[in-house]
Amino acid sequence: MGSMGQDGSCCPTAYGMPNMNTKIIRNSAKCLGCNTEAVSSYRWDAQTCRCNNVFVDGGTDYIRRAVKDLSLYEDTSIILSASEDDPCRES
Ligand SMILES: [Zn+2]
Repeated sequence: MGSMGQDGSCCPTAYGMPNMNTKIIRNSAKCLGCNTEAVSSYRWDAQTCRCNNVFVDGGTDYIRRAVKDLSLYEDTSIILSASEDDPCRES
């Protein structure tokens, strides 16, 4: 009883801080408006696409995004679950 997730969030998403079980391999997002991919390669490497619709930041430390038009946005990040003990796994 009462053993649900502490804060209600479970699976890490591409937004916000990843939890300790995830590892960011590639922090990137593609803008479908100008067909440019913005890739953040290190922590303070802020990148935008050509038309400034998509902004990525954080490199392999954290995922930060600012997107003007989400319908023209595609996340292309690669994020691994580093732990076998995945809290998202349902038994
Ligand atoms: Zn763009």
